[in-house]
Amino acid sequence: MTQKKIVIIGGGVAGLSAGIYAAMNGFDTEIIEMHSVAGGQCTAWDRKKYRFDYCLHWLVGTSHGAFHEIWKETNVLNNQTEVINHEIHSRILDKDGNEFIIYSNIDRWEKYLVEFAPEDEASIRKMCNDMRKSALLEPFATPPEFRSLIEYITILPKMMPILNVVRKFGRLSCEDYFDTLKLKNEKLKSVLYGMYGGSNFSALAFIFMLGWFHQKNAGYIKGGSYPFAQRMVGKFEKLGGKITYKKRVEKIIVENNKAKGVILTDGTKIAADYVIGAADGYSTIYKMLEGKYVSKEIDHAYKNWELFTPLVQVSFGINKHVEFEAPNLIVHNTDLSIGQTKLDAGFSVMNYAFDSTMAPEGKTAIVMRYESPWELWKNIDGEAYQKEKIQIEKDAIEKLEMVYPGISEFIEVIDIATPKTDVRYTGVKDGAYEGFMPTKENMMKSLKMTLPKLQNFYMAGQWLSPGGGLPPAAQTGKFSVMLICKKEKQKFVVK
Ligand SMILES: Cc1cc2nc3c(=O)[nH]c(=O)nc-3n(C[C@H](O)[C@H](O)[C@H](O)COP(=O)(O)OP(=O)(O)OC[C@H]3O[C@@H](n4cnc5c(N)ncnc54)[C@H](O)[C@@H]3O)c2cc1C
Repeated sequence: MTQKKIVIIGGGVAGLSAGIYAAMNGFDTEIIEMHSVAGGQCTAWDRKKYRFDYCLHWLVGTSHGAFHEIWKETNVLNNQTEVINHEIHSRILDKDGNEFIIYSNIDRWEKYLVEFAPEDEASIRKMCNDMRKSALLEPFATPPEFRSLIEYITILPKMMPILNVVRKFGRLSCEDYFDTLKLKNEKLKSVLYGMYGGSNFSALAFIFMLGWFHQKNAGYIKGGSYPFAQRMVGKFEKLGGKITYKKRVEKIIVENNKAKGVILTDGTKIAADYVIGAADGYSTIYKMLEGKYVSKEIDHAYKNWELFTPLVQVSFGINKHVEFEAPNLIVHNTDLSIGQTKLDAGFSVMNYAFDSTMAPEGKTAIVMRYESPWELWKNIDGEAYQKEKIQIEKDAIEKLEMVYPGISEFIEVIDIATPKTDVRYTGVKDGAYEGFMPTKENMMKSLKMTLPKLQNFYMAGQWLSPGGGLPPAAQTGKFSVMLICKKEKQKFVVK
């Protein structure tokens, strides 16, 4: 029997995952990746012996559950990988230098919060209980098409407390949720509303986030994003898969409503029995497929759902060891600016001293990130862009001095990656590095992996579920191959 061919557009984590499972199941598998390295958003870059990581802060599934199985199957986790679970999730400083800590362990955080705002004890306990319940969430291991009624019935009792949280808060924003808590302490209100309010950011996303940390199931993998993706590449190639780098897909070939392959920007045609779209969702649906296969839901999502605000990342190579206090420090001072960006969400500083692979011994890699709306970037080019980068460098050093006084004289490398950099290397729409923002409107929704009337084509990746992230990217990669195996009446296997 001749092998059937699957072409996968994009070698990010979704494409690599799809590739691994496709190769495991005996398909002739080729990933087309436009960049010279795989990984997509899950990447890092080296500058003068420093490594500046872009993506990995936390990975849901580092200890157990359906995501954990995927990380083991795709070689993201193996006997050699070391998972780091931080005690502190974030340390937040307000404009007066007051400190607020979010602990990863809910019990620890609850104790801290009750000491911080004793008058709000009842509300704090209620919020922490909601979070504890969310920690019971177990993601499904199969796509809906594979689930039997028995599977639903067996997990239902376990999921009851979570379903209650989802029912009560699924359509609330963080701000709505904090209102229900009726907090009295002004400082606590100012941090919570300041950090998570002021937008439609979903209450559930906030509640669930700490649930994962509490179970120690959202760790950081030593080495960060680059080796993460490379371990997947290694597994894929070992299984006989092929990655074609520096080639961009322009069009998906469709005949009689059946995907038949892809056409690259250099005109090359690659025929296939199945195509998996694991690149930017908008480009795939509206450009590569010319918007011919959309539903009302898809159109609504791409027209109306909010996107993540893109980031500017300023990375510093520091010629000395800088003591590590918390993995993520957020300076929540909205009076500040960097370059043309007003820091409405403040800025964060990540000191990678906890990961010895990021800098030579005795030195430290520090990364500053801040949100910067795409509107500010979409029309800036040439000299104006270079000028903006120079201003960013100056302003970012000033901000780093606020956190680490006297550090400037030890800076030996500075690297700036803007939303334009992300778009240039990965094609992600408007620099929305995690796709659709989880809001009160979309948190309970997801987009289908198939497109109406189009056969032999599957979508995978972060654009299917608001909130994006590595786990749904890898999981939809796996699910796309499960669906192809079902169509081929072939048993899906994992090796
Ligand atoms: C700063 C930052 C921090 C993050 N932190 C976390 C975190 O801590 N935990 C977490 O779970 N997630 C995190 N994420 C999100 C996570 O990185 C993404 O959700 C995930 O990597 C998306 O994977 P993907 O494969 O769906 O898409 P992408 O990574 O965007 O991959 C798409 C791939 O397709 C390629 N491509 C695009 N167009 C074409 C074309 N026409 N032809 C060929 N190839 C094409 C691109 O080059 C890219 O490699 C973070 C992201 C960023 C940027």
